[in-house]
Amino acid sequence: MKGNHIVWDKVKAGQALFLSWKSLRLRIFLIIIVTGVIPCILIKDGILNNYEERAVSLRTSDVQTQVKIIADHLLNYNYLQETSSEVINAEIDQLSNLYDGRVLIINSNFKVVKDTYDISVGKTMISEEVMKCFKGQNTANYDEKNGYIEITTPIMQQGVDKNKDGQTEESVIRGVMLTSVSTDSIAATMEILGRKGNVLEILIGMVIFGVAVVLSNILVRPFDRLTDAINEIQEGYTGELISVPDYVETVHIVDAFNQVLARMKRLDDSRQEFVANVSHELKTPITSVKVLADSLRDQGEVPVELYKEFMEDIAEEIDRENKIINDLLALVKMDKTASDLNISVVDINELTEIILKRLRPIARKRDIEVVFESIRQVTAEIDEVKMTLIITNLVENAIKYNREQGSVKVVLDADHQFFILQVSDTGIGIPEEAMEHIYERFYRVDKSHSREIGGTGLGLAITRSAVLMHRGSIKLTSVEGEGTTFVVRIPLNYIAS
Ligand code: ADP
Repeated sequence: MKGNHIVWDKVKAGQALFLSWKSLRLRIFLIIIVTGVIPCILIKDGILNNYEERAVSLRTSDVQTQVKIIADHLLNYNYLQETSSEVINAEIDQLSNLYDGRVLIINSNFKVVKDTYDISVGKTMISEEVMKCFKGQNTANYDEKNGYIEITTPIMQQGVDKNKDGQTEESVIRGVMLTSVSTDSIAATMEILGRKGNVLEILIGMVIFGVAVVLSNILVRPFDRLTDAINEIQEGYTGELISVPDYVETVHIVDAFNQVLARMKRLDDSRQEFVANVSHELKTPITSVKVLADSLRDQGEVPVELYKEFMEDIAEEIDRENKIINDLLALVKMDKTASDLNISVVDINELTEIILKRLRPIARKRDIEVVFESIRQVTAEIDEVKMTLIITNLVENAIKYNREQGSVKVVLDADHQFFILQVSDTGIGIPEEAMEHIYERFYRVDKSHSREIGGTGLGLAITRSAVLMHRGSIKLTSVEGEGTTFVVRIPLNYIAS
């Protein structure tokens, strides 16, 4: 039942999509229909027009030939003066019957001497065509609307006048034959042809419709498959890549999509790894606290000093847990967008001095000297809290990973665009292979050493995020056993995106 519903929903969605003008399927369908049907209509009309033209011109020349013969006969029988000649009358009647037409014969006085309809005999006929004809022009006009062809033919007497050399000089037009012939038979043939054409057109139209439906579905199917594949992934991502190799276009879409998938997978993996790391890091101090508390409880009578010592250890582990949680919170804040920065104009020299003052007592415990060299006075548009984190983390690390009686040097310089903060130490250095991992969350070169000195492995991750939020850069150079230098460059003016 549910399956039926889904199928029905899909059909309805398909119909809605098909009806939308934006549907590729509809567009392919329409293109096939238009490119198929329009030529069909044009060809039919072209054939019919061509036929009509040819038929009219054939009929005109047929009639003209016959009229010409009659016109020549007329003169022999002196018909323009006397219209009683039976031979000519029979010829004229035959012509008008044959073409279902009317013949008028006009003499040189523009008088109608013969009309096969017997209506205009004796009347004067001065039409444009007749005048033209008297000047020697044959005319033939097709009146499509009323369905006839009107033809004028001059009645010519050849070589009547002779010049002084006895040669025929010119022909004289003695009258005009005005013939109208019906084109009904042509129209009837056209109608039959037109009807046949229509039937053919409908048949071809039906075939084109079928082809359009099938083709538009077949051509769009790869895109449907693509949508299905993407939907399947949406329902439950298995890590499998999709493939729809039908078109270059689908291959491009699939490639782009697979890249997004791979990125998602990387993000997913790193999120899982992060959660695993966080749990592990948070569990470590708690496990220590539990072990300490259990041993105190199980020992029965314990001297007060031991109690105190254990309690101090427990307090230390709680501090550590606190530090990890604080660092995690700082990191989460960094993951937000740059718009979360709280920008103000800050005196960087002063800020550095304050931080160093706070850190010097820690350095002094291990006899480490902290020097500040300010090359120029710097004020910049920065987020003070995040900048404090950057400087604190770098200087803290320079102290933590230093040797006894070592030194830390902080140099502040600026050019016209950036200020540059350089933190160098004379410490243990960072091995070459560790350099690319140093900014990863929870990464520590020497886990137990870092733990001993209270590291969480989050400091440099926080520092790098804060630098990037300011659209700055961080670089490091280090020689193992000699020392490390971190160089941070931050724009003097905050660049809003
Ligand atoms: P931690 O809290 O462990 O110091 P960080 O992210 O600040 O974490 O640093 C990551 C690791 O990089 C440290 O554990 C340490 O091994 C190494 N490191 C960082 N700064 C220095 C430095 N100045 N000298 C040597 N090693 C360093």
